[in-house]
Amino acid sequence: MSYYKIKNLEEYFKHYKKSIREPRKFWGKIAEENFIWYQGWDKVVDFNMGEADVKWFVNAKVNITKNCIDRHLAKRGDKTAIIFEPNNPNEGALHISYNELYDRVAKMANVLREQGVKKGDRVCIYLPMIPELAVAVLACARIGAIHSVVFAGFSASAVTSRINDCECKMVITSDGGFRGNKSIDLKGIIDEALEKCPSVEKVLVANRTNTTVNMKEGRDQWLQPLLDAAIPNNVAEIMDAEDPLFILYTSGSTGKPKGMLHTTAGYMVQTAYSFRNIFNYEENDVFWCTADIGWITGHSYILYGPLLNGATTVIFEGVPSYPDFGRFWEVIDKHKVSQFYTAPTAIRSLAKESDEWVDKYDLSSLKVIGSVGEPINEEAWHWYNDHVGKKKCPIVDTWWQTETGSIMISPVPFVTPTKPTYATLPLPGIQPVLMDEKRNEIEGNQVVGSLCIKFPWPSMARTIWGDHERYKETYFSAFPGKYFTGDGALRDEVGYYRITGRVDDVVIVSGHNLGTAPIEDAINEHPAVAESAIVGFPHDIKGNALYGFIILKETGEYRDRDNLTREINEHVSSHIGPIAKLDKIQFVSGLPKTRSGKIMRRILRKIAEGDFSNFGDTSTLLNPEIVDEIKDNKI
Ligand code: ATP
Ligand code: MG
Repeated sequence: MSYYKIKNLEEYFKHYKKSIREPRKFWGKIAEENFIWYQGWDKVVDFNMGEADVKWFVNAKVNITKNCIDRHLAKRGDKTAIIFEPNNPNEGALHISYNELYDRVAKMANVLREQGVKKGDRVCIYLPMIPELAVAVLACARIGAIHSVVFAGFSASAVTSRINDCECKMVITSDGGFRGNKSIDLKGIIDEALEKCPSVEKVLVANRTNTTVNMKEGRDQWLQPLLDAAIPNNVAEIMDAEDPLFILYTSGSTGKPKGMLHTTAGYMVQTAYSFRNIFNYEENDVFWCTADIGWITGHSYILYGPLLNGATTVIFEGVPSYPDFGRFWEVIDKHKVSQFYTAPTAIRSLAKESDEWVDKYDLSSLKVIGSVGEPINEEAWHWYNDHVGKKKCPIVDTWWQTETGSIMISPVPFVTPTKPTYATLPLPGIQPVLMDEKRNEIEGNQVVGSLCIKFPWPSMARTIWGDHERYKETYFSAFPGKYFTGDGALRDEVGYYRITGRVDDVVIVSGHNLGTAPIEDAINEHPAVAESAIVGFPHDIKGNALYGFIILKETGEYRDRDNLTREINEHVSSHIGPIAKLDKIQFVSGLPKTRSGKIMRRILRKIAEGDFSNFGDTSTLLNPEIVDEIKDNKI
């Protein structure tokens, strides 16, 4: 019996039970049957959760790019591996076959070696969403260099701190990048960032925008001539299962970014397995994940997961609003996309626009649609289901984190019945538990608690680069012996999980624990509301009270604000209960968001508390200007 693909609900439960009773056999079999190894393992897993010490496939030898590329060449050499959809639709898409991908990665790997990059060296990749980004990532993995992709929307100071934290030897960037009708001077940002980065010896520059840039003598080189001179053949480095594959800094919603370190074999096995099941991937599907490769979602589900399965994956350079609000849907129509994976923030921003944008395209190629990054509110879920999935595509609401490496809790489409706003059930191999304040495991259903994972899983991060103590402290100390996710969840009457947000976002009002996500959900259902964020602030009588920051849809702009405030509170009262009524409502034109599109609630919390003294690290904010506006209009 193969465990690689779950076919129905009965099989899901069977696989799940097996994965809990005999995790070694379960993962061992998946690893053995679906990948190529230079050498097998002595032990499937070795761990000490208390010390945050975990090893999978102990002493096995492997190279992940052999699994992503080489092994497909015989059967799928001419198959498209990557469809590159440029920012400007008139530029035309590019199809890169597996054969071509091999050549490109081999050449790039040879260039890196010639430039002195060795196994274990860190390489910072700061590139827009162009094929060179995928090639650079894979070339690092090919030669055993540790890639650290930094989203090419980060400022110079954010880049500096990420480069210095892991002492990168090389930076791969481009002259510039296109995003909507803007062009961004990436090389200029790198030049500024590198003024304070003593470890960087070389910079390779891809040509994307044909702009003139400064090239620093002895440090900077154009990439293309080096690639042209390289041979399209490369012997992959033999990697230990636990050799580092990459460092990725978390998106920074809650504080100083952490450089999560992921290793090779476990990450490979679980991203491939989860991709196959959660997207119901079949041979001729075209898969599109709209995340940036600079986030974990892009690492695992634009690159590694799809390529490990020999899939066709779309790399999209642009933004959902350019040239117009129909862009996502036009791309799905054009490339006959089968699986579409995006974030609630994108769904909400497009749902705000006229439905004509989505309704005019043929989306009949879609089979599964997915969501990740935040709890998806009920209204957005239904809009996604009705207008994009046309009520025939299961929505996979996938819960996971940079730290977990791959999807942990999610419906398996056509297997697990979906339920709006619920991530539903854990994947086989994943053992979630809910914990109470006394650190006891909460048994049974219809309960809420702090979400922990009580057994290691292959793709979990192994450490925070250079700071194992912080890793232990952050994730393994609150609930000894368990991995603490930082998120709260509820388990419903059938055992489905709903992520209620970060535990820090739970507000205790008059002794009642209120998760902010369900309240936001209710508020967002009001026809005039586009988006909202709720935080707590100290209150003399209630202990804490709720403060709402609300963005109105255009239709709400001209309405009487006092009336609207009353209506919103009546709505909350009838949907959640009078206890959840907001003490203060401030209408805002935007919310502070990270570059990955998440609301930075700690800033809102400070504003609500009236503490404007120190907003902490705001280098990952997309729209820092909004902070002043909100602050100045505080109620
Ligand atoms: P940082 O850890 O630096 O504060 P971050 O937590 O935003 O940043 P990520 O690893 O990108 O960084 O995000 C993981 C978090 O996103 C989860 O812990 C959870 O709070 C939220 N999340 C992701 N997917 C879902 C989902 N499907 N439903 C609800 N929440 C989700
Ligand atoms: Mg996090």
